[in-house]
Order: sequence, then structure tokens, then C-alpha cells
Amino acid sequence: CGIVGYVGDRPALDIVVEGLARLEYRGYDSAGVAVLADGKLATAKRAGKLVNLRGALENDPLPDGTLGMGHTRWATHGPPNDRNAHPHTDCAGTVAVIHNGIIENFARLRAELDEGGHALDSDTDTEVVAHLLEDELPRAGGDLAEAMRRVCRRLEGAFTLVAVHADDPGLVVGARRNSPLVVGVGDGENFLASDVAAFIAHTRDAIELGQDQVVELRRDGVTVTDFDGRPAEIREYHVDWDVSA
Ligand code: GLU
Repeated sequence: CGIVGYVGDRPALDIVVEGLARLEYRGYDSAGVAVLADGKLATAKRAGKLVNLRGALENDPLPDGTLGMGHTRWATHGPPNDRNAHPHTDCAGTVAVIHNGIIENFARLRAELDEGGHALDSDTDTEVVAHLLEDELPRAGGDLAEAMRRVCRRLEGAFTLVAVHADDPGLVVGARRNSPLVVGVGDGENFLASDVAAFIAHTRDAIELGQDQVVELRRDGVTVTDFDGRPAEIREYHVDWDVSA
């Protein structure tokens, strides 16, 4: 439902949770976040409203990190409980994924992953992506964006995906097909979101991603390609309308 990503020099968690709050108007049934700190991935997720997630974060704080992402879920595959909330991780717990939309061919992909020895522990279509990334990362030479392109070529349906990898703590990767994803361009920091409302308090310079594109977001730059890795033209625009959320 709602997606926020951040990489910069400020603590990511506050920016991500505040971004999720700005997307609350869309409705959702669960919420979750991931941050990368000291080369380690930490996640928290809860069914229910953001207040539940905030409570969990107060009781059990995540380490400070300057890269993070967050999700509000509108369940399509599996009931809205803590386990099915995003982010979802791979077996090793080093890759985390959030997702809007529906992966139509997830049952086939899941059967393949089960056969390959992956233990999936949610009912979601989303979780297959974390495990597919885990399989593709070695083939992609450890390059998360390349692994994402390889995975996206196998997915059917509508999706916005955002992924992070503990081994590349300066990188957020996003991808989209038939579902929106926008980049917010800051100064020494960059944002990703399903809607500009999530980052409008920080920057009004935006890049709208085209259909079937993958974006690599770092503190100091943004790269966009298609699913085959061909560089895409970046169309930057200024958000000069009022966002009331
Ligand atoms: N299909 C995914 C799920 O059920 C994502 C739903 C959404 O767009 O929030 O978890």
C-alpha cells in the first residue's frame, strides 16, 4: 500500500515512520520498517495501525542507521498479522523487501523455492522476492540492482518493490511495474516513495520512474535502468502543488 525509502546522513527511522504517517490516508492493515546499521539489517513490523509499530519500536528500539525503508500493508495474500507484515527477508536475513501490489505467478515461484530448500515463513506473495533475490545475488556478482532486474524479469503482475542488502549498506534498490514509485532528490540524501506526500517535507525535486524500471538510490546519486540493465532517461520535475496529507 504505502512505501518509503531513505538514504542520507540523518537517522533513517524517524524519516521513514513520518513518511508512512503521511501515507496513512490510503488505508492499511499493518506496518513495518527496516534499517541498516553497522552492516546489519534490523526490522520491526506489526499488524494494525502505525501506533502499534511505534509502540514496538519504543519497547524494542532499532539501532540508529542512515538507510531505511518502511511499508504499510493492505493484505491481498495472507491475513493481516505480524508475520505477514512487510519487510520480508531471505533465509540468511541479509536481504529485506517491501512490496505494493500482487505477484500473480507467486505460487509457481514459491513451489520452485520450496524445492530449492528455501524456508518461507509467511503467506504473502511478497516473500518469494526476498528469496529469489538471495538466489540471484551470487549470479549477479553480489550486485543488488542486477539481482533485482533478474528477479523482475521473472515476475508477473503489478508491483512496486524496494529492497536493501546488509552487504551494501549505502544502497536502496526500487523497481516498478503497473504500480507507482517516485524518487525524491535531496542534498546528500535521497528518498523513494509510492507517493510524493511521503517526502514532500524534505524535498520537492522528484523523478517519476517509468514502467518496468529499476532505480539505484545512494546518498549522492540516482541511477535508473530498464529490467535489462539499459540506462534510462531521468525525468526530473518539481512538485509545485500543495500536498495536504
Ligand atoms: N500482496 C502483498 C501482500 O499481501 C502486498 C499488498 C500491498 O500492496 O500492501 O502482502
